[in-house]
Amino acid sequence: MKIYNTLSKRKEEFIPLEEGKVKMYVCGPTVYNLIHIGNARPMIVFDTVRRYMEHKGYEVNYVSNFTDVDDKIIKKAIEEGVDASVISERYIAECKKDMEAMNIKPATTHPKATEEICGMLDMIGTLIEKGHAYAAPDGTVYFRTRSFKDYGKLSHKNLDDLQGGNRSLLVTGEDQKEDPLDFVLWKPKKEGEPYWESPWCQGRPGWHIECSVMSKKYLGEEIDIHGGGEDLVFPHHENEIAQSEAASGKPFAKYWMHNAFLNIDNKKMSKSAGNFFTVRDISEKYDLQVLRFFMLSAHYRSPLNFSAELMEAAQNGYDRIVTSVSNLNFLLQNAAGEMTEEEKKLAKEAEGFIAKFDEAMDDDFNTADAIAAIFELVKFANTNAKEGSSKAFVQALKDEIVTLSDICGLIVEKKEEMLDDDIEALIAERQAARKEKNFKRADEIRDELLAKGIILEDTREGVKWKRA
Ligand code: AMP
Ligand code: ZN
Repeated sequence: MKIYNTLSKRKEEFIPLEEGKVKMYVCGPTVYNLIHIGNARPMIVFDTVRRYMEHKGYEVNYVSNFTDVDDKIIKKAIEEGVDASVISERYIAECKKDMEAMNIKPATTHPKATEEICGMLDMIGTLIEKGHAYAAPDGTVYFRTRSFKDYGKLSHKNLDDLQGGNRSLLVTGEDQKEDPLDFVLWKPKKEGEPYWESPWCQGRPGWHIECSVMSKKYLGEEIDIHGGGEDLVFPHHENEIAQSEAASGKPFAKYWMHNAFLNIDNKKMSKSAGNFFTVRDISEKYDLQVLRFFMLSAHYRSPLNFSAELMEAAQNGYDRIVTSVSNLNFLLQNAAGEMTEEEKKLAKEAEGFIAKFDEAMDDDFNTADAIAAIFELVKFANTNAKEGSSKAFVQALKDEIVTLSDICGLIVEKKEEMLDDDIEALIAERQAARKEKNFKRADEIRDELLAKGIILEDTREGVKWKRA
């Protein structure tokens, strides 16, 4: 499996630090608003990377944070006259709803910055001890950027060019920094802001330190993959490398993966520019599986321009797979038996599409080509599975389509929702069967309902049911 590594600027063979395991950290959202579909791109991309790794048999430890202390969260809390945690908890809950609706698996751990302050104080302390950081007179702690000789290795920037070229680096604390390139690890509180005690001042952490600390705590000092959007390469990820490697003396992440932007009118979609759609907005018009399909229809390192036409194309593409699976399910209702010799040959041929899919995904997660392989398989199934085909053959084709789609996180088999009236009728039939002591039929009905996600509960007041 090859992965494009931003560090080396080329595709490299993936060799895990520990056989059979993948340790992966992805920078998560700052939670002060509903997430927009630009934020959804890394979520979908890295969820797909994780799913493919799991499909290959790796045990994946996937960590993605919520940044829950930040200027924008504090600003919103002041506007609403509530505690900052009210804002962050609200939007973490909303974000989790959106993730579920996009079929993004929960990470192994979703740490929150405010719950990891102790670890941050420890790492900042270590950096000061080792001479990589210093406290200014007002209690702000800065990272001594020039003390880390590899600074710039990820973004391929040279320290002296940075000093000359990037004015924004000079903005804060210019007069008390030893060097304009130094960045903040800890800053003093301002009136009305949340703060924590520290050896340097009452205050709060800088943004970069949180990821170094959470990654270390949940995955260890050395990890396999670190991911995020390409806007994070500099300074966020460059600073994470400096903090983590200066503190541990070990290489931090082996592979750095960055998704390109989701654009609108060829400009980056962002909250600050106001040119965004939230995931919620999109869910009013489309099944979010269509959004997922749209995101994966381009390679993650290619910019993707959001447009109504491309969403319509995604809708058609997604529907093509769903319709094929639904037709195969229809055939399965009456099909029977094992494969004929002819079908065995065809089934072997169909396996070729799985190989094609894997080949595309092994090549730096080329989901665009992987989806093309699913389409070929769908076309093959539409042509070769027909009335009279054996059950084993139809089932094999259907399982292949569903499995490959599932690696992309695409739900292509629609569970038929049972109507309340049908459920009630079956429950009444079960009650009647029990009265007649026909427990076999009663159990059958309970199992049938369970298979459709309906759970029965026998209570004193009668039978109650709920959807799983
Ligand atoms: P933020 O909440 O801005 O810190 O962003 C959370 C994640 O979304 C980061 O990995 C960003 O790089 C990513 N991101 C934000 N906007 C976009 C966009 N328009 N396209 C792709 N990724 C984005
Ligand atoms: Zn981060």
